Amino acid sequence: MASDLETEVQAIDKSLLECSAEEVAVKWLQATDLPKEVYLHLAYYVPKIYCRGPNPAPQSEDMLAQHVLLGPMEWYLCGEDPAFGFPKLEQANKPSHLCGRVFKVGEPTYSCRDCAVDPTCVLCMECFLGSIHREHRYRMTTSGGGGFCDCGDTEAWKESPYCQKHELNTAETAEEEDPLVHLSEDMIARAYNIFAIMFQYAVDILTWEKENELPPGLETVEKSDTYYCMLFNDEVHTYEQVIYTLQKAVNCTQKEAIGFATTVDRDGRRSVRYGDFQYCDQAKSVIVRNTSRQTKPLKVQVMHSSIVAHQSFGLKLLTWLGNVIGYSDGLRRILCQVGLQEGPDGENSSLVDKLMLSDSKLWKGARSVYHQLFMSSLLMDLKYKKLFAIRFTRNYRQLQRDFMEDDHERAVSVTALSVQLFTVPTLARMLITEENLMTTIIKTFMDHLRHRDIQGRFQFERYTALQAFKFRRVQNLILDLKYVLISKPADWTNDLRQKFLEGFDAFLELLKCMQGMDPITRQVGQHIEMEPEWEAAFTLQMKLTQVISMMQDWCALDEKVLIEAYKKCLTVLMQCHSGFTDGEQPIVLGICGHSVETIRYCVSQEKVSIHLPVSRLLAGLHVSLSKSEVAYKFPEFLPLSELSPPLLIEHPLRCLVLCAQVHAGMWRRNGFSLVNQIYYYHNVKCRREMFDKDIIMLQTGVSMMDPNHFLMIMLSRFELYQIFSTPDYGKRFNTENTNKDVVQQNNTLIEEMLYLIIMIVGERFSPGVGQVNATDEIKREIIHQLSIRPMAHSELVKALPEDENKETGMESVIEAVACFKKPGLTGRGLYELKPECTKDFNLYFYHFSRAEQSKAEEAQRKLKRQNREDTALPPPVLPPLSPLFASLINILQSDVMLCIMGIILQWAVEHNSYAWSESMLQRVLHLIGMALQEEKQHLENLSEENVVTFTFTQKISRPGEAPSNSPSILAMLETLQNAPHLEVHKDMIRWILKTFNAIKKLRESSSTSPVPETEGNIIEEGSRDKDKAERKRKAEIARLRREKIMAQMSEMQRHFIDENKELFQQTLEELATSTSRVLDNSPTVSDTKLTALGPKQTKVTERRQVVTCILCQEEQEVKVDSRAMVLAAFVQRSTVLSKNRNKVIQDPEKYDPLFMHPELSCGTHTGSCGHIMHAHCWQRYFDAVQAKEQRRQQRLRVHTSYDVENGEFLCPLCECLSNTVIPLLPPPRGSFNRLDFSDQPNLAQWIRTISQQIKALYILRDEETASKSEDLILYILKYGNIILPKGFRPDFQPNLYSESIKEMLTTFGTATYKIGLKVHPNEEDPRVPIMCWGSCAYTIQTIERILADEDKPLFGHLPCRQDDCLTSLTRFAAAHWTISPLSSVQGHFCRLFASLVPNEKSGNLPCILDIDMFHLLVSLVLSFPAIYCQDFSGVSLGTGDLHIFHLVTMAHIVQILLTSSTEENGMDQENPNGEEEVAVLTLYKFLCQHTGRELISGAITGTNWQPYLHCHCLCYILTGASQFKHLCSYLSLPNNLICLFQENGKIMNTLVESWCSDNEVKRYLEGKRQAISYARDSNKLIDLPDDYSCLINQASNFSCPKSGGDKSRAPTLCLVCGTMLCSQSYCCQTELEGEDVGACTAHTYVCGSGVGIFLRVRECQVLFLAGKTKGCFYAPPYLDDYGETDQGLRRGNPLHLCKERFKKIQKLWQQHSITEEIGHAQEANQTLVGIDWQHL
Ligand SMILES: [Zn+2]
Ligand SMILES: [Zn+2]
Ligand SMILES: [Zn+2]
Ligand SMILES: [Zn+2]
Ligand SMILES: [Zn+2]
Ligand SMILES: [Zn+2]
Ligand SMILES: [Zn+2]
Repeated sequence: MASDLETEVQAIDKSLLECSAEEVAVKWLQATDLPKEVYLHLAYYVPKIYCRGPNPAPQSEDMLAQHVLLGPMEWYLCGEDPAFGFPKLEQANKPSHLCGRVFKVGEPTYSCRDCAVDPTCVLCMECFLGSIHREHRYRMTTSGGGGFCDCGDTEAWKESPYCQKHELNTAETAEEEDPLVHLSEDMIARAYNIFAIMFQYAVDILTWEKENELPPGLETVEKSDTYYCMLFNDEVHTYEQVIYTLQKAVNCTQKEAIGFATTVDRDGRRSVRYGDFQYCDQAKSVIVRNTSRQTKPLKVQVMHSSIVAHQSFGLKLLTWLGNVIGYSDGLRRILCQVGLQEGPDGENSSLVDKLMLSDSKLWKGARSVYHQLFMSSLLMDLKYKKLFAIRFTRNYRQLQRDFMEDDHERAVSVTALSVQLFTVPTLARMLITEENLMTTIIKTFMDHLRHRDIQGRFQFERYTALQAFKFRRVQNLILDLKYVLISKPADWTNDLRQKFLEGFDAFLELLKCMQGMDPITRQVGQHIEMEPEWEAAFTLQMKLTQVISMMQDWCALDEKVLIEAYKKCLTVLMQCHSGFTDGEQPIVLGICGHSVETIRYCVSQEKVSIHLPVSRLLAGLHVSLSKSEVAYKFPEFLPLSELSPPLLIEHPLRCLVLCAQVHAGMWRRNGFSLVNQIYYYHNVKCRREMFDKDIIMLQTGVSMMDPNHFLMIMLSRFELYQIFSTPDYGKRFNTENTNKDVVQQNNTLIEEMLYLIIMIVGERFSPGVGQVNATDEIKREIIHQLSIRPMAHSELVKALPEDENKETGMESVIEAVACFKKPGLTGRGLYELKPECTKDFNLYFYHFSRAEQSKAEEAQRKLKRQNREDTALPPPVLPPLSPLFASLINILQSDVMLCIMGIILQWAVEHNSYAWSESMLQRVLHLIGMALQEEKQHLENLSEENVVTFTFTQKISRPGEAPSNSPSILAMLETLQNAPHLEVHKDMIRWILKTFNAIKKLRESSSTSPVPETEGNIIEEGSRDKDKAERKRKAEIARLRREKIMAQMSEMQRHFIDENKELFQQTLEELATSTSRVLDNSPTVSDTKLTALGPKQTKVTERRQVVTCILCQEEQEVKVDSRAMVLAAFVQRSTVLSKNRNKVIQDPEKYDPLFMHPELSCGTHTGSCGHIMHAHCWQRYFDAVQAKEQRRQQRLRVHTSYDVENGEFLCPLCECLSNTVIPLLPPPRGSFNRLDFSDQPNLAQWIRTISQQIKALYILRDEETASKSEDLILYILKYGNIILPKGFRPDFQPNLYSESIKEMLTTFGTATYKIGLKVHPNEEDPRVPIMCWGSCAYTIQTIERILADEDKPLFGHLPCRQDDCLTSLTRFAAAHWTISPLSSVQGHFCRLFASLVPNEKSGNLPCILDIDMFHLLVSLVLSFPAIYCQDFSGVSLGTGDLHIFHLVTMAHIVQILLTSSTEENGMDQENPNGEEEVAVLTLYKFLCQHTGRELISGAITGTNWQPYLHCHCLCYILTGASQFKHLCSYLSLPNNLICLFQENGKIMNTLVESWCSDNEVKRYLEGKRQAISYARDSNKLIDLPDDYSCLINQASNFSCPKSGGDKSRAPTLCLVCGTMLCSQSYCCQTELEGEDVGACTAHTYVCGSGVGIFLRVRECQVLFLAGKTKGCFYAPPYLDDYGETDQGLRRGNPLHLCKERFKKIQKLWQQHSITEEIGHAQEANQTLVGIDWQHL
């Protein structure tokens, strides 16, 4: 069947290939009815090429289409062979100076913060790197796809619009030259013809809606019964749903279903079945049935194959058109012309219109193809861009309507093109004036928000899901409006004024619908039943915030527009208000002889709304009047007289009172929705157009009315009028037993009201209100943020409002107010407030939240104490108010204000009343301070002609009038100064009195009326001295206490060092110096130096080791026969040292780990936190953990950071992840007391003895196996016949350790075996001891590498926990043979030994090139006791160790010599100098003899074998202290290593000869195989580029390896090997041990035996993975200039590699701490446990 199909396809191919493009083109050139000819051709060929089977075959389709379909068109177009035609066109073309590169998903884009006109102006990486902007402040983001590079667009950049590359093109292009002049007439005509036909064809077929019928002209005679069941994408159904449904409907495997679903998601549609109609229709009905349950069903169509074929070609054609116009700007213009030419049906009938208008009906793939064509044609041609923009605007309403119904994201909607058009300033302006774009957008927006209440306001309360969905979509229109407004006009035409004001009208209509929306009423008695909907209204407000600000900016630019807008806004506000005040009765208020009429209204009883955009817009315009000075220039045009200040302030005041009441707890029953609204009202995202403007409106009001009236209205709205208008109200409070809650409430309200007055007077940093500029405003914000605490750049940015360009203006002022402190290895860079700026600190800064305010207060007072200043925080000196607002200052000296102050001070003096609070007093003091500052300013800036009208000091010196005769405010302050209960406020009162006196002096000097002297001064001085003394005394006490603690600590330290002196100094350090000198291999080292450490030196006494169990706190000595003590340990497989990551153990059950290959591709690492427990205590603890986890998992099915089933637990002390325990053992051998080597056998003798022993063991073993069936007596007889070497007793069985220790030896050994080989535990397996030795050797090697990389000497630099771990590990490994069957360990030894000293029984062993010598050494030394223990001949164990070491060392030297690469510098063979070189040369020549090859002999230098010796040192130091001297005698070798060969010349010659004669060695020497050469470099993580955008670029070029050139969504870089992976996506999931895992997890099993370190490039986030269930995110090693990371790439500041942080990650890896790090992260953050790490 398959082959049939194939031949059929081939047959077709052949017939198609016969078609000649040239001939067809000639035919077309002569045709009279060209469209008909072409259609005939397409009708015949397209179905023959496309859609020939169930699966698309893009390659052959493309090839054939090019040959049969596109080829003729190209011939026709060029009039000759396109191979010549196109290059000619390209040459003749004057290339555009526009870049226009269309961005791929994930591609980096750059925007210059200094030069971009708006943040949507971006550059591609190439242009950016070639532009001047790389020197500027820039922002980097990753593109979401779509959009193109704006390089060369002069409207997009304030400066330097061209990069180097595109700059070149500008020189040649004349201004606005018609590109058609470069084309011949013929060419123009042909291009026009063919483009018209093909574009028409493509549009017709793509927008064709019939499923079974072709458009006219394309029908074929015979119609086959072949259909496709086409599945379309929607945003409703999930991947899982689609996959599941498909498996059912078309009976495919899960894998195929995933493939279908992926394509549907990517392209928007995919055929899931091919066959006759019925067959396809059946699948369709199953899919529809299966997906229609909860939602609307998936869209499926059964389409005739020829339709699908034509559509496929239609898409191909559009891409082709895009390519062809790339050859010539002239062709591009012709295509644009064709596209925009009006069709026969008039308006909206051009091809471009047709495509746009059917956008929402097209599938994703088709949309993106034609969008791309639009971008490369219409948007690249300046003339047609304008025409297209007009078409787009005319269709705007319809397009948006379609988009509302469309369920695709905006990114694939044609409406998203608005950003390309509306952000172009000239286009936007043209569209506003000619097409009334502003009005269109706003009206379209209003069209879609139809839900209104009776008053016509928006209502979101009863939104359905669908309406909510539309509401989300409609918000994009606000974005469009923002684009239009983003660049402000410099010149206004009358047309622009008119159309802008028309748009402004529409905008006011919109705001009118928001004014008063979501009104709320205080809930009394019962709590509200349902939280009302509030988010929609706030979302709208938030989205509109910047638009509102921009509207004001636009208005402020033109005086006429501003005046008109102000009038319009006022009119609308009046309209809104008329409804509010109706029916409210007027009342009259009166205090201090002032009276005012107002309405009766209580916020706590009636409806109130937070949404007042019209009032706030008016406030904004009012400030603009002041800022632009229009108010003074044209007062006659302004309706200022019509303004009714009480009306203006009414609603903003209500809103502020609402906030106060909420703080006072009066609205508790209204639930959280109100709290949230109040929060957002003050939040940085909204406050600019909410809270801030309300304050401005109040300021406007005060400045226009009698402040006494204002204050009375305010008291009334705060519902405090009664309290302040009734004499002795406070006293009555006290006597009448009033409700405590009410008193408390009133106190808070009074505090809030005073705070509000402080803000009204003090907040004058908006340009227009005060005489300040924008910079002053930002400066002040930053000063106040930094007054709380030092902050990082990003925190500051977050705290500041952003403008439409996403700029806060912070950079321009930050240097002036703060110092930058660089970050360390963790944390981030911080800005600290400069000390001189603290004087500008205002405790009542209006943007502080309550928490921030108290933090700032505390911080500032602390600072003052540190500087030994008094702790008063007086109000700062303020800038003067603008004239329009100047009169508001009088509020401070108004009678009602003084009355309020007087009453509160009176309460404070009386103190007995509880209708009073300290913060109330604090605020009054602040207000008094403000007034004094103001008066002082006035006096200081006094000019001759001015009279100071601000006479606060005089007013507060006057006592109250009869009848009350209350004391003056000043007098009360003096009284309060000595009040014991006001300690905290003393400094402030003192400051006030001091300032008062200063002002008095000023007045005297300027000869104004004298004020009587008060005795305030004297009191002040006296008490100050007293205070000072007290403070000093306290400081002294604190200092003494500190010193005492310090002394205690240093005493403890000294004690600790004393205790450990023995360990620290006598041994380690001494040795470290000597060994490192030896290892330096410097010629100064002589033999005499080493005698100090020679055999005759005194013996180091062994230390008794007593340890404490962390669980039961009991102490115990570590001895062979006592209860076992254990260390919590974590064993893991590791590839950190691997030189070959592709090697995996294939069949662990059969794998023989005896010899480690020098590639070290997979080792077993053991780590420990160093915490010691009794074995039995641990066992009890572990059992409890296990039981608890099992219960918990049954109950909750929660994950933990550790896997109990795999034996994992957390160290009970430090919570470090562990999976087994290492027993703590004493040094394994008795002290090495045979220091005299004279009577010991030499190497040759020793080898002979060992060989004999081995031989005997082999014979015995053979006998044993043979004897199994035989008689016991016979066996003994035979046994007797064997000749044993002298003193060898193979029947001896040593028994060294207590049962408890043995048990732990088994536990740890089995764990190492289980984890290292990934097999089921089996303590009997003979490979257990091998794995233990291996882990020991591997762990030592890793530590040696770490030390070497850090350039640290071997001794004294191991951290304690590593030291403990290694000690226990080596001692354990050395002891492990005692619990294994002796014969199997002996067997291992024999095989190991045979690899160096061959014997006839040795069998198939690896050659010396394939053995890691250190592993061999460790295994040999550790298995040797198994033989030695039966040797009673008197040979020392140390001798054996020494000989083994010598032997392996020599093998290693030979290994190095053999493998050293030929490129290395050869030693001067002619003139050897020095003893060593002579020796090396001798050996070298010897080797040459045996290998028959020229080797390079420079190989033996210190560096080659240093790692090996280092490891060796570590190994011995840790096994026992007494080995030190022994070790040193070993280490005397390096000085003349080659002497080893000379000393043991004979035996070595034999051995070297045998090593070199191995077949593998020969093959290597013949160049037939590779071998590892030495020294092996340490593995490092990959090199990362300094600039992060390089990585983004690399990732954007990376496509998913499985889904054919598709861009990966989450490209992730393995930091170990540099592989890029397609993570977190269905396409790259694979199966691992029966589970689906993502690409990262799968990769860890290949690359890091389960552990991985990745960089998620799009997120700029490091990912640690371990196993399938564990993972965490880690801070990336990239920092911006402010010393911060940017996880998620949200801020887009340029990022650069921080080498130190990357080193830290590398160290975690090298130390095998990744798993531990994950464990800690997961313990700290439980949400990490829930993440499906395996799918990443
Ligand atoms: Zn570019
Ligand atoms: Zn460029
Ligand atoms: Zn720039
Ligand atoms: Zn214990
Ligand atoms: Zn621990
Ligand atoms: Zn890797
Ligand atoms: Zn993939």
